[in-house]
Amino acid sequence: MPDPGRAPARSSASDVLLARGAQPKPLDVLKTVFGHEGFRGQQEAVVEQIVSGGDALVLFPTGAGKSLCYQVPALCRPGVAIVVSPLIALMRDQVEALRQVGVRAASLNSTLSEDERNAVWRDLTSGQLDLLYVTPERLTAEGFRRSLSRLDIALFAIDEAHCVSQWGHDFRPEYRELASLADEFPHVPRVALTATADAATRADIAERLRLEDAPVFATSFDRPNIRYAIVERDNARKQLLHFLQGHKGNSGIVYCLSRRKVEETAEWLNAQGIYALPYHAGMEPAVKARHQDAFLREETVCLVATVAFGMGIDKPDVRFVAHLDLPSSVEAYYQETGRAGRDGQPSEAWMAYGLQDVVQRRRMIDESSAEDAIKRVERGKLDALLGICETPQCRRAAILRHFGEAHDGHCGNCDTCLSPVETWDGTDAAVKLMAAVYRTGERFGLAYVIDVLTGKANDKVRQNGHDTIPVFGQGRDLDARAWNSVARQLTAASLLLVDHQAYGALYLGEGARAVFKGERRVVLRKDRSRKATEFRRTPGAATSGLDQEAAFVFEALRRLRARLSREQGLPAYMVFSDATLRAMAEMRPRTLRLMGEVPGVGVAKLERYGEMFLQALQEAEEALP
Ligand code: ADP
Ligand code: ZN
Repeated sequence: MPDPGRAPARSSASDVLLARGAQPKPLDVLKTVFGHEGFRGQQEAVVEQIVSGGDALVLFPTGAGKSLCYQVPALCRPGVAIVVSPLIALMRDQVEALRQVGVRAASLNSTLSEDERNAVWRDLTSGQLDLLYVTPERLTAEGFRRSLSRLDIALFAIDEAHCVSQWGHDFRPEYRELASLADEFPHVPRVALTATADAATRADIAERLRLEDAPVFATSFDRPNIRYAIVERDNARKQLLHFLQGHKGNSGIVYCLSRRKVEETAEWLNAQGIYALPYHAGMEPAVKARHQDAFLREETVCLVATVAFGMGIDKPDVRFVAHLDLPSSVEAYYQETGRAGRDGQPSEAWMAYGLQDVVQRRRMIDESSAEDAIKRVERGKLDALLGICETPQCRRAAILRHFGEAHDGHCGNCDTCLSPVETWDGTDAAVKLMAAVYRTGERFGLAYVIDVLTGKANDKVRQNGHDTIPVFGQGRDLDARAWNSVARQLTAASLLLVDHQAYGALYLGEGARAVFKGERRVVLRKDRSRKATEFRRTPGAATSGLDQEAAFVFEALRRLRARLSREQGLPAYMVFSDATLRAMAEMRPRTLRLMGEVPGVGVAKLERYGEMFLQALQEAEEALP
């Protein structure tokens, strides 16, 4: 069996392409090098634009396939493609994946030794590189630019282009300097790519990078393979555990707001028999790096993290993203959940949400040191997300509408579509609850107000004389859980507000008057029992949908992949993706030529792994039960 570690130097993808003569054609590159059958969506249009020397602004959601938009032109055009990327981890993965398919890629970053750096320079200046990944700092350094001006440049790709905008979530001042590439390299095509769905950021990118005249390639921001679910929290840990039980053997992320909660949750999950690793900014760098690596390389890690984790994580087979705390905005929610299912396979975005989230998030804004104008914007952003949490309608439609995209409102792949929510006219209930808040002097927290409403004459209520006021016992028709739900929804709608200075005392919001006067009706959702949210779960296993024989073969291929990835210290997906292994298990090719026709098997991987997988296929077939 060939040893991938000590195999002789192979011909690069460029050699293979050049041996065929003339200028490589995009489709040929896609098939031969990457092993894909055809372009997706607007990829082809973008590639044509760049190959012909034009600029482009590419706005595709995560997982749509932005990388190929510049990687294919990089191999079609003469010279080296310079790719700007904000994170070293991101570069490392991209370079490794490209080398796996035989592309001559390298990166220049601060983690390289001097020898390594010299080797990259040598390859770069002697025309031995197809793609070079650099940080924005590097590209804006004057010396580096001078060196570049003496080279043949195929294109500039500016990845994660939202980093140029202050409106975005990952502003990087160095990105601003990239605008001058337009003057210094007027004949080199520039392509900026981002998955940001935010209109203000998009406009800002075009302006800041001087791409106003470049054609914009945008697709729908829907992520149809992600199933959205937002459940009312009653016992978050129990609910999370139940959710994770549907994801045995998968990897995913659990987001928490605080470092402490990250650590406690990870510890608790491990005690429950779930392989969980914590990740947050306060951890030792070495431990953090180890956990991130385990998540990237292994197939079954549940990473419990603060939002410090995720940017630049390219792992395509993240099967779930769970939120134990509410994000700050729809944009953040979309971005964080978007880390699931890059590979297009079924994935889940799940969140447990309750009144405490509303209170906590509002408080974070109130207590921040930002200017009032910014606080107003933040409140508006939070309210938009609360609207999505409380909607009785399709979540996906609500998310897409937030980004200005139309949707018919029945996606069939979110919790409210799969298990419809009933609504009720909650005007009377709202009036009762708000009256109880008002009549007790806007001085008490929710638990107390509910005691008064439901007629609990405990010591505190009696001492305050609230057992004799008219609202006492007026709310016996609903139980405490139902009143909690009403309070959460009224708070989300800002009809009730929480005073943090006064230990969480409730007081009335501006809109309350209109409700009292009968000018405004309040429609509430009926919270579902936990049972009702246990709709048909996403098929969890990677083998779902395969027949028995194919599933058996798939598992055998997966074992070989695990061994190969371990031996080379590579993530499993870089050997072959799940989708490729599935296709292999179904097609069961018997010759190298047929193996080369499996989607995802390009020339380099065929040469490197073809024989081994053929042999594994044969052995698996002989062992079929
Ligand atoms: P993005 O950068 O837009 O999030 P990627 O470039 O990482 O997306 O691509 C996501 C996944 O889709 C990758 O696994 C990639 O191999 C796959 N992919 C992209 N384009 C194609 C295509 N034309 N055919 C098959 N698979 C593709
Ligand atoms: Zn829906």
